[in-house]
Amino acid sequence: MLAPRITNALTIDVEDYFQVSAFEPYIRRDEWPQRECRVEANVERILAMLAERDTRATFFTLGWVAERYPQLVRRIVAGGHELASHGYGHRRASDLDEAAFRDDVVRAKAILEDLGGRPVLGYRAPSFSIGAGNLWAFDVLAEAGYRYSSSIYPIAHDHYGMPDAPRFAHARAAGLLEIPVTTLRLLNRNWPSSGGGYFRLMPYALSRWMIRRFNADERAPAIFYFHPWEIDPGQPRIAGIDARTRFRHYVNIARTEGRLRQLLADFRWGRMDEIFLGAGAGLGAHAPAAASSAAD
Ligand SMILES: [Zn+2]
Repeated sequence: MLAPRITNALTIDVEDYFQVSAFEPYIRRDEWPQRECRVEANVERILAMLAERDTRATFFTLGWVAERYPQLVRRIVAGGHELASHGYGHRRASDLDEAAFRDDVVRAKAILEDLGGRPVLGYRAPSFSIGAGNLWAFDVLAEAGYRYSSSIYPIAHDHYGMPDAPRFAHARAAGLLEIPVTTLRLLNRNWPSSGGGYFRLMPYALSRWMIRRFNADERAPAIFYFHPWEIDPGQPRIAGIDARTRFRHYVNIARTEGRLRQLLADFRWGRMDEIFLGAGAGLGAHAPAAASSAAD
């Protein structure tokens, strides 16, 4: 491969299929506990897939999920992965005032740290919901003790995005880095190159080309994300949803696990904290592993 051997960041947003933002108009929060839960089994499959490749990743986990599946949280940590926060109840930051946002991110951090037994440094907002309208969120995250966020998507999209935001890690508050998911700069605009629905929609070869091109052009780690429900063709179908939401949620869902396996084979992957906060950044037991992987 011609691209330099860069360790890219692999991230998983741990939520169940009925919690995605696009289903908010169709599924009330108070119905969540009655829905068939699939997240535990799907994360188990992901952990097995990563173990086969001896790969570590960052799991941005909902507090709501962690409370119900404490063993799952412990298995993520025991697998050598980074446990990070996706907030408590999958409320978009852009839908919350400052006090409600603070409650959500503080609550999630406390639950995850209690179960995982180590500091939670990273946060990803549901649906990349931090942007020009709520930059105060970064001060709240820093005050809550987070060290980094991966919550801005520097593209134009109907549900989220901040197209003119910096495309690389940058300080947003005292002690807090924002690390935006990856975009490729081509033809004077930013193209999503970091997973999610676009990874299911596009041919795999195009996704791979975009990450290789990003690594080669920028000499920087790419940040890729996916969800446990994206490898679950057997998930219950939500009835009565509009055609666009249905397409976005289910497109190529039966192909995604195979593509992810290929992605694991085609690139080198690691944890957000080890890649962006550095081996000596107070990461305890994980620091030596980061130092050795950086050397080879
Ligand atoms: Zn999410």
